[in-house]
Amino acid sequence: MKIAVLRERADGETRVAATPETVAKLIGLGATVAIEAGAGDAARFPDADYAAAGASVGPAAATVKDAEIVLAVRRPSVGSLLGITPGALVVGIMDPYGSEGEIGGYAKVGLTAIAMEFMPRITRAQVMDVLSSQANLAGYQAVIDAAGAFDRAMPMMMTAAGTVRPAKVFVMGAGVAGLQAIATAKRLGAVVTATDVRAAAGEQVESLGAKFIMTDALKDASGSGGYARELTQDEQAAQAALVAGHIAKQDIVITTALIPGRPAPKLVSRAMVESMAPGSVIVDLAAERGGNVEVTQPGKVATTANGVTIIGHLNVPGRLATSASQLYARNLVSFLETLIDKKEKKLAINWDDELVKATVLTRGGAVVHPNIKVPGATPLEAPVAADPAKTGAAEKSTPGEAPAAAADDVTPAEPAKTGAADKKDSI
Ligand code: NAD
Repeated sequence: MKIAVLRERADGETRVAATPETVAKLIGLGATVAIEAGAGDAARFPDADYAAAGASVGPAAATVKDAEIVLAVRRPSVGSLLGITPGALVVGIMDPYGSEGEIGGYAKVGLTAIAMEFMPRITRAQVMDVLSSQANLAGYQAVIDAAGAFDRAMPMMMTAAGTVRPAKVFVMGAGVAGLQAIATAKRLGAVVTATDVRAAAGEQVESLGAKFIMTDALKDASGSGGYARELTQDEQAAQAALVAGHIAKQDIVITTALIPGRPAPKLVSRAMVESMAPGSVIVDLAAERGGNVEVTQPGKVATTANGVTIIGHLNVPGRLATSASQLYARNLVSFLETLIDKKEKKLAINWDDELVKATVLTRGGAVVHPNIKVPGATPLEAPVAADPAKTGAAEKSTPGEAPAAAADDVTPAEPAKTGAADKKDSI
């Protein structure tokens, strides 16, 4: 059973799907592991460390040849997988919405695509939850980026020359990323407030020592599966009124709000940004999904005319490539452990397992996931109730798009989501 790990091809993708530590674990599961030379360079895992862990290191074609499993961060193009074992598993963040043609291409060449971001959020699967492991790091990094762009100190500092007041940090959206942002800002000594539309988030915010603020007009906008639902217009107006008064007094705002399958809700208007003092900083972690801030430029750091810096980095976990790869790679191993018969040293997939059902997009030449609609593709099995799609922009999908044809005329993987993150611009 050969497992292959290719170098990530998307622009600015710094992460890698296996580390020397997880290579050793995969070998312990009975696999042989092949790593493309340079795959771990951007995350600071040298080829020599993979080799020392027992992997073979070589060019892409040799890496993929006869592999039964390919591990990836982002979906590899079908064309990059030539020579792979028919029916092989390709496991990664598949980001299928808007790329249904590519997913159809996977089916057409008989690959089994597994979308890690569709992993159900149940206790058994927590250890495989790539959204949580990456969001956690993103929440931390958002505060570090904010502190780096802020011209003042974060904690209160009492010195012989006088006292520096602590920074005021406001976190919007208290899910996985938001809670980590709150904890990080608290550790740096800031005075932290936070808001969310789920009432349950209030207790979590307060347990971290931050103040929870929520409008009385909005009792609870919890949706299914622990996620938020979209607000009604009246609720949005009430939330905007609350936020407008609060934001004007903040030094740093970190926005993390998302709604499954929808563009990021717009929470901070241009007028709110204009109400902030010069030198204030906003980090918009929702930039990849369009942003929570009206004037965010995804992929850029920009400064408004009134001196507010708005940071809209894409692929924020990739800014912590080593840590993000370590956690992501461990998530993958935990999932593979459920798919492999260790004694027999071979794949033994229970296709009825709810984790498998929720994450498998293509199998046996067909698109089998109920949320992925590729014209002309016939589902193999009855649709299963899937976890809410979180990689966003379902509305980006192009139902008319034809499935990709043969492997070598499939378009390359979706262009970089990361590029240009360090460009500085003014708004
Ligand atoms: P997410 O990334 O979908 O959204 C981030 C946050 O934005 C959420 O807390 C959401 O309520 C909030 N939000 C949405 N619209 C908003 C608005 N208009 N204003 C303010 N905030 C808004 O969420 P997530 O981080 O993936 O977490 C969602 C839930 O899932 C949380 O309750 C989390 O604790 C839970 N969770 C459970 C597990 C598990 O059980 N295995 C794992 C991870 C997360």
